[in-house]
Amino acid sequence: MDLLEYQGKQLFTRRGVPVPQGRHAASVEEAVQAADEIGYPCVVKAQVQIGGRGKAGGIKVAQNREEARAHAEAILGLDIRGLTVRELWIEEASEIAVEYYASVVFDRSAKAPLLMLSTQGGMDIEAVADEDPDAIAGLHVDPLLGFQDFHGRRLAFEAGIDEDVVRPVGAMLAKLYEVFVAEEATLVEVNPLIVTPDRQVKALDAKVTLDDNALFRHAENAELRDLSNEDPQERMAKERGLTYVKLDGDIGILANGAGLSMSTLDLVAEAGGSPANFLDAGGGSKAEAITSAVEVILSNPKVKAVLFNIFGGITRCDEVARGLIEAFNQIGAGGKSIPFVVRLDGTNGEEGRALLADANLPNVFIESTMDGAAEKVVELAKQAEAAPA
Ligand code: GDP
Ligand code: MN
Repeated sequence: MDLLEYQGKQLFTRRGVPVPQGRHAASVEEAVQAADEIGYPCVVKAQVQIGGRGKAGGIKVAQNREEARAHAEAILGLDIRGLTVRELWIEEASEIAVEYYASVVFDRSAKAPLLMLSTQGGMDIEAVADEDPDAIAGLHVDPLLGFQDFHGRRLAFEAGIDEDVVRPVGAMLAKLYEVFVAEEATLVEVNPLIVTPDRQVKALDAKVTLDDNALFRHAENAELRDLSNEDPQERMAKERGLTYVKLDGDIGILANGAGLSMSTLDLVAEAGGSPANFLDAGGGSKAEAITSAVEVILSNPKVKAVLFNIFGGITRCDEVARGLIEAFNQIGAGGKSIPFVVRLDGTNGEEGRALLADANLPNVFIESTMDGAAEKVVELAKQAEAAPA
């Protein structure tokens, strides 16, 4: 789960990472009031889960109330690379002498957290990594030993930061590491980490990703989910407890088992189609579960055809077929005219397909092989594209 800047800064404050003072605002009036409370100059910052807000006009300094109002009006509703700004963070303006970059990220290949520090702060760190990788100093932390003072000193030395701020930057890294561990984050990134002209060190930006699988241990963080900017299909799937990932294409996919789901995506792509989602329906054959999953698939307006790829293992195909027939009857009642291709194979495969065939369901095509099913669904999607309903 990605947090908004101000939410990340709340976690920072909880753990003693110095950040500028700020207030949240969701309307122009709230923004003006927050700016008055903070005082001028202040910064009006768009709260969206995407970097590069500065360049997109989502961050503006206000010298007085009129400017605060004008900036809030300009930024609220602004579209920043597909995300609409609905919230602002009003923050006391900081004077910047130097901009650094600092982060803690979980490095899976090393099975350890990786600390990074660079003097090339304030800009796109991916670009720095491409053009000047030596400008980023990195160091793994043994998760059992935790952060030690030498980590901070070594990184500061390797990155080449100003000598007089080695201590406070080291202290900040220690606290960022604490945030990372205590909040069970997979990423804690500060860009820029600034040094003010009077040599104070502060986190001017915050990018935090929390581990979804650990959220049950952090009830207070689960509330931070940004529902307004979450994809509607992914939100719906999450609420229904489904393993669903939205993709760009127009062919809805439902398979049982993650491996089969993945290979189904590959087959559809190989047949010249473009999958609209990954969805693992799990082992069951219950009509409600299938109907619920199909509702999520069809709620994506791009979907033109759907492929069910079900392998009956423990759940026999005849049981699956009964569930599917019931589900199709429920879906059919919804009045959707989207074609379905069903590939059903495995235990009692023939019986299952016979049941489906006898049910004589309109707009449902039965296939016994994965290749055949993938080709059929791609063909149907192309037909639908050529002759839109
Ligand atoms: P991002 O563009 O989405 O990463 O947003 P940031 O919070 O990192 O802000 C982008 C840039 O805006 C920073 O690198 C700063 O140069 C500038 N900025 C943000 N807040 C302040 C501030 O309080 N004072 C000054 N002078 N510049 C700021
Ligand atoms: Mn930034």
